Amino acid sequence: MTLAHELTARFGLALDTRPETLAACAQDFGHIVRETPLGVLRPRSAAEIGQLLEFAGPRGIPVGVRGGGHSLYGQGQAGGGIVLDLRALNRIGPVTDDQVTVQAGALWREVLAATLPYGRTPPVLTDYLGAAVGGVLSSGGLGGAGHRHGLVADQVLELEVVTGAGEHRVCSPGRDPELFHAVLAGLGQCAVIVSARLRLVRAPARVRRYCLYYADLTRCLADQRRLAEEQRFAYLEGQVRPADDEGRRYMTEAVAPHDGFRPPDDAALLDGLAHDPAAVETEDLAYGEFAHRVDTDEEVLRETGEWLHPHPWLNLLLPHDNAESVVRAVVADPAFRDLRDRGLALLYPLLSSRLRAPLFSRPSGEVFYLFALLRTAEPDRPETVAAMVAANRAAYRLARSRGAVAYPVNALPMTDADWRDHYGGRWAAFADAKRRHDPHLVLGRGHGLRF
Ligand SMILES: Cc1cc2nc3c(=O)[nH]c(=O)nc-3n(C[C@H](O)[C@H](O)[C@H](O)COP(=O)(O)OP(=O)(O)OC[C@H]3O[C@@H](n4cnc5c(N)ncnc54)[C@H](O)[C@@H]3O)c2cc1C
Repeated sequence: MTLAHELTARFGLALDTRPETLAACAQDFGHIVRETPLGVLRPRSAAEIGQLLEFAGPRGIPVGVRGGGHSLYGQGQAGGGIVLDLRALNRIGPVTDDQVTVQAGALWREVLAATLPYGRTPPVLTDYLGAAVGGVLSSGGLGGAGHRHGLVADQVLELEVVTGAGEHRVCSPGRDPELFHAVLAGLGQCAVIVSARLRLVRAPARVRRYCLYYADLTRCLADQRRLAEEQRFAYLEGQVRPADDEGRRYMTEAVAPHDGFRPPDDAALLDGLAHDPAAVETEDLAYGEFAHRVDTDEEVLRETGEWLHPHPWLNLLLPHDNAESVVRAVVADPAFRDLRDRGLALLYPLLSSRLRAPLFSRPSGEVFYLFALLRTAEPDRPETVAAMVAANRAAYRLARSRGAVAYPVNALPMTDADWRDHYGGRWAAFADAKRRHDPHLVLGRGHGLRF
């Protein structure tokens, strides 16, 4: 009897084994790793996820979890195993003043569409809203409001999960906290998130967005640090951009909410900063329009076809003291020269004391920076992609030697030693949680952690 027949006979579960389905789940946004599963299950309930895991565990069949499919390096894939495609688990609501329960397969744009009519929003959103709730909560989730509110995962009040052992559990900071903290930012290692109860806050009617430009990285970072510490803005991000003369210029994107009647006081907000005053760009947007700002980029990149090209992305978290030296070294590296013509380099500050999820690794010190190198490769050039991934490794090693850590949503192969180093003193507890909750070690193998 085949696997599919056995699952149907025992549990009535219908495994999709059509070649086009298998090919789709052997892909992700990275378009670099391709691991073909034996079948894909689209569960309609936590019970079905539990049945699948009870079946797969003792047989040692790998189980990958797919939400929005935006992994960069096969993290959600399951070569020779089963992919759980959670997109059909996408119920949202009801929305109250301060919280909403959402199923893990819902996309963040669907969550926002459900909360905004009530004037509510999750306190932190990632830049792109096309990822799924489960995918972002299992990574952590960084965004421009992070310097105030921490991670997207820090906004979770309660989780409904199915552990790797097939147990259906509800956990929160007050109920089974060990499981709760092993799941948030836990790279899908211990359990499959079925749904999450999320904190909501009042959404502003409008926002004013300032783009502040700097010729000098030192000044840009000093202002970013100051703005994060003073909490002057609701949202802070930034970019490293090419300048005409083979050099770079630096941009801080600072956003202030307002009600549409009394616009913010520009002079007070920008007082004492070291940006070029002649180059300030200011824009007023409805909050929803601002939250969806990456949609236009997605449309353009889909039209050019680049959305489906390989994406050897690298996200690093740099400690304040060495941020400048790492940024300078990476942008001067010929292996990253393509960033001048294509792709995007993000650079923005976060505050460690605002982050709560214990499994989320960050550098020591209060202020640190996300440095995201978002590159696109030509299709059908595997040797170029391999060279870009090798450059990611070299940049990671250099940054790590200067106190940085990876934000592990990357096209970055990590060795066993890298993972242990990544979790440091928390490795033993993480490995212990993994063995208890996923005793057959079948979940999330695509991340490359070995316990
Ligand atoms: C265009 C773009 C922009 C991005 N911008 C940001 C950003 O601003 N900030 C940021 O922090 N990240 C950002 N990311 C990274 C993104 O948040 C992560 O890659 C996220 O994991 C994608 O989720 P997904 O559901 O789409 O991906 P998937 O590939 O479906 O899942 C990703 C991983 O999450 C795990 N997972 C998925 N669902 C569950 C579940 N229900 N339970 C347990 N584990 C699960 C899977 O095992 C898989 O390893 C961006 C990615 C892209 C492609």
